[in-house]
Amino acid sequence: MPQQSVVTKNRVVPLEKIRNVGIIAHIDSGKTTTTERILFYTGRTYKIGDIDEGTTQMDWMPQERERGITIVAAATTTFWKGMRINIIDTPGHVDFTAEVERSLRILDGGVVVFDAEEGVQSQSETVWRQADKYKVPRICFINKMDKLGANFDATVKEIEERLGAKPAVMVYPIGKEQEFKGAVDLLEMKALIWDDKDSQGTKYTITEKIPADIKEKVIQARAKLIEKIAETDDSLLNKYLNNEEISVAELKKTLRKAVIDYKLIPVYAGTSLRNKGVQPVLDAIVDYLPSPADLKEIKAVNPKTGKEESRKLINEEKFSALAFKIQLDPHVGKLTYTRIYSGTLESGSYVYNVTRNKKERVSRVLIMHANQREEIDKAYAGEIVALVGPKDSKTGDTLADPEGPIILERITFPDPVISLAIEPKTKADQEKLSYTLQRLAEEDPTFRVKINHETGQTIMSGMGELHLEILVDRMRREMGMQVNTGKPQVAYKETITRLAEGEGKYIKQTGGHGQYGHCLIKIEPLSRGSGFKFINKIKGASIPSEFIPPVEKGIIEAMEKGILVGYPMTDLQAALYDGSYHDVDSSDIAFKIAGSMALQDAAKKAGLSLIEPIMKLEVTVPENFMGVVIGDISAKRGKILGTEKRSRAVVIKAYVPLADMSGYATVIRSLTEGRGFFYMEPSHYEEVPRNIIQSMISK
Ligand code: GDP
Repeated sequence: MPQQSVVTKNRVVPLEKIRNVGIIAHIDSGKTTTTERILFYTGRTYKIGDIDEGTTQMDWMPQERERGITIVAAATTTFWKGMRINIIDTPGHVDFTAEVERSLRILDGGVVVFDAEEGVQSQSETVWRQADKYKVPRICFINKMDKLGANFDATVKEIEERLGAKPAVMVYPIGKEQEFKGAVDLLEMKALIWDDKDSQGTKYTITEKIPADIKEKVIQARAKLIEKIAETDDSLLNKYLNNEEISVAELKKTLRKAVIDYKLIPVYAGTSLRNKGVQPVLDAIVDYLPSPADLKEIKAVNPKTGKEESRKLINEEKFSALAFKIQLDPHVGKLTYTRIYSGTLESGSYVYNVTRNKKERVSRVLIMHANQREEIDKAYAGEIVALVGPKDSKTGDTLADPEGPIILERITFPDPVISLAIEPKTKADQEKLSYTLQRLAEEDPTFRVKINHETGQTIMSGMGELHLEILVDRMRREMGMQVNTGKPQVAYKETITRLAEGEGKYIKQTGGHGQYGHCLIKIEPLSRGSGFKFINKIKGASIPSEFIPPVEKGIIEAMEKGILVGYPMTDLQAALYDGSYHDVDSSDIAFKIAGSMALQDAAKKAGLSLIEPIMKLEVTVPENFMGVVIGDISAKRGKILGTEKRSRAVVIKAYVPLADMSGYATVIRSLTEGRGFFYMEPSHYEEVPRNIIQSMISK
């Protein structure tokens, strides 16, 4: 690694010159290829004459791809025309909320890649809606223009109709499929034609000569674009309506504002694989996507006062940052990726993890650049860096200056709702299995691993069937771990519905040293999501204080095993109020057993019940399928919350028990002739109907 590379030397730029962007796409539409090309062109342009580094970078990437590892780190820095572009890796699979949410949370802008033949695919729709939620300005790149069946206009139309977006079509493609040559830049009215003989796509001609066969259409397309831009700004609209000349610079400036205000989405065309059309997308990132300076400030909460505060996104403010990803790196250990919102951070300093109320030492600060990582002394506002040193910081935590603690809007991660048993194909791999699972769990806050002590089984749990499927697939592909899995199980929980008392007495006197533990407890229900609370109400010396923690432990153990069906208990409080002991025979273990017995005794009288995860479901279907879909949701014990009309579709919102949603993708496909799609996320827990509990018990 060079002493100080171009990245470190040139990384400190004014805020206006920073772009924090993510490349978002439906799987297989070309996100990896496009990212790779972006890194190539930006690296090449910067390091003129430094072909060696360029080629190594190219060589390195296919290798990484063969090994099935994501080609870039969670964030990578690159430069284009004096601007610094930080590319944040967004998950390839967006079927689980948390992954997407955390990357969208820290992006300032997004590049959405589409397959010109496939058009708008379901995954793009899902991310699109999340990007709407987080108000992320976007540009679109319609990729694979070389592919048979590529259809630029149809894809634009889908972006408009299915995504409800207002596209600003910036280019007119020249040729298509095998004949795709380039595109006309509609603002500049210049044709960009790539040199077919140049295999790297760095050579292209820019000409004002628009091919005669498309000239008329190009003029029409330009008029449409100008009208769209003008409509976003009153003074420009006046000029437009009065047929006054509007300069390209003026159009660009207005368009930039419109993109940042979520009014327009610039659309480009190209083929990453054939190296055509990627550079204009880089220009668009610079021209139209916001810099941190455009965002000006971020809202946060002061944990001491509970009041809202804001931080200007500048170096001169107190330090604040959000940890958005944890990655275990084979070389440097645990990396905490953070986006710095305000202030600066020096290596060797301490930061305050406000979320966990912990001081953490930052021993090293790293800048990621494609396959390289470089150490820096100081990081600035707007930067995305990886920290070495923090031990306890997790995804979603706020790191701040101890003198000015704030909590940035949290990324909330719900509890897992589904689980399955997993075991290695060969016994010898047991240790590797726990290591692999632990690694995945460190990186993914919604994935948990547990050993069932009764059966010895390893249980993994997550946010949905697909989530677990993908994790198992990653274990196979990325970590070479062969496993067998059981059937997915819904994560039911047991709880109580009324107050009750219980007694636990454990006495054993079979010669020699005996056992004696005795306790009386009172349990009562707590509100949903409260978990467990233990209260010690022992007055006097009926139980010596050293035996109190064992009683609590015994209660917790009994709760974990469950009583009604065998699911863990939750949302209850247990108060220990009396008991007795024996001078010689009492022990920790005896009181633990007594605690367990007391809980079991009390729970049986406390109106045991079962609660189940309820999913928030959103189904988007053409209107004529609305009836069948609603009927099906009702048959699944679902509760329709409402329907919303979109341009050509209806969105049905509902709560549905997860237990009835297994294989829903197939159900929706067959109900709607493949035209419906859905988005589902865990919402809350609700009591399972009595008749269903009965049948579960009898099983
Ligand atoms: P990702 O899953 O979105 O990261 O997509 P990849 O970049 O891995 O690409 C998926 C597949 O599409 C690969 O086989 C690529 O070679 C291919 N691909 C990517 N870009 C293009 C393109 O512009 N044209 C064609 N025909 N294929 C492409």
